[in-house]
Amino acid sequence: MKAPRIRTAVPGPKARAAIRRDEAVASPSYIKEHPLVAVRGEGCAVEDVDGNRFLDFAAGIATVSTGHSHPTVVRAVERQARRFLHVCTTDFYDPAWTRLSERLARLAPGREGKRVHLGNSGAEGVETAIKLVRAHTKRPRLLAFEGAFHGRTLGALSLTASKPVQRAGFGPLLPGVTHVPFGNCYRCPLNLTYPSCGVACVEGLRDTILKTHTPPEEVAAVFLEPIQGEGGYVVPPPDYAKRLRRLCDDHGMLLVADEVQSGMGRTGKMLAVEHFGVVPDVIVLGKGIASGLPLSATVARATVMDWARGSHGSTFGGNPVSCAAANATLDLLEGGLVENAARVGAHLRKGLEGLAERHPLIGQVRGLGLMQAIELVRDRETKVPAKEEADAVVREAFARGLVLLTCGRSTIRFCPPLVVTRAECDRALEVLDGAFAAVGRRRKGRT
Ligand code: PLP
Repeated sequence: MKAPRIRTAVPGPKARAAIRRDEAVASPSYIKEHPLVAVRGEGCAVEDVDGNRFLDFAAGIATVSTGHSHPTVVRAVERQARRFLHVCTTDFYDPAWTRLSERLARLAPGREGKRVHLGNSGAEGVETAIKLVRAHTKRPRLLAFEGAFHGRTLGALSLTASKPVQRAGFGPLLPGVTHVPFGNCYRCPLNLTYPSCGVACVEGLRDTILKTHTPPEEVAAVFLEPIQGEGGYVVPPPDYAKRLRRLCDDHGMLLVADEVQSGMGRTGKMLAVEHFGVVPDVIVLGKGIASGLPLSATVARATVMDWARGSHGSTFGGNPVSCAAANATLDLLEGGLVENAARVGAHLRKGLEGLAERHPLIGQVRGLGLMQAIELVRDRETKVPAKEEADAVVREAFARGLVLLTCGRSTIRFCPPLVVTRAECDRALEVLDGAFAAVGRRRKGRT
């Protein structure tokens, strides 16, 4: 299916009618970034009800890892659906569940054996991790980062500090959560420069927060996104995660890597922590793990996942159809898609850097593999976030047939399916170039 192919103004008449019906019944809390009413998808392309085809560089928020309806995944899902749909693995057994868990346990770094708990969503995986680290350490407190996104259920939300609207009105949240600045060198929270800063955003915690209001002996774990996702696709400095690991070890705190967005091959390695040479105690996986079917995994060192029988589980967690999709997804990732993410990601990165040379709105290009982003600023010196401009570029790109999402305050992210080709990236960059030019012309017209 070739994309983009735009036949109507978007949204077209059928999409507008469908959206009107949806708006009358859907919870108003949904963001609804684009008026896209999908009828089918294939690879990196999505077709809407009006026959418009879009190049999908959002992939259901980094979830459709193997592309839309990959035949291998669809076959695995169909086969499993004919066998049985549900058995409840909290109470019974499913060989596909076991096989998947063995594979996930193997791909987590570190020599110690692992145990796996399967859930339905990223947030549920994070909830599992919160309960696990508290139960194991018998400590109540948690450390998380400014800009973090860990999900929207109340425990996960307590760790989330991405946008005020996500938290407003939902308190009181979990007590004992301390947020500390993230290692964002483009906007250093301490106004320092790497590497002469000595990674003060980590090392300084020893003398500040941990010596003032958050006694480290009460902290169960530090929750880290190895690359911040919703917070703006922020890649911390190379030794950041290692220094955090050391800080955790010095105080008996566990390190939880939330790889819901960065994991499953997205960064060109199976897990983002592999780029940083760090071994977490707990890893949370979700999104791309089952190519779009609901599934998450909390993978922990076996000596950490030592909680009592009956202490945690869920009816649908590790549903057989999702497990079948995840096993097929892993086959594809291990069969070449992780390498494709590294290879095509480097190509996309080069293209984005080329765009940055032509469009001064682009303040920084960053990312790893197919987790790439551009941060838009009004001025490269002052770095004032260009939020309206980022929204306008994304809207313009959509009208031209390219689906993109923003993140952070003024960042546009690129997280296409891992099957994406160089040619598709080139086409996306062409559309984006046109979108920047159009937005630039409109801005000039206004001044
Ligand atoms: N953790 C991270 C890093 C995420 O990016 C997300 C979702 O964007 C979540 C957790 C929550 O996942 P879900 O929306 O599946 O609950």
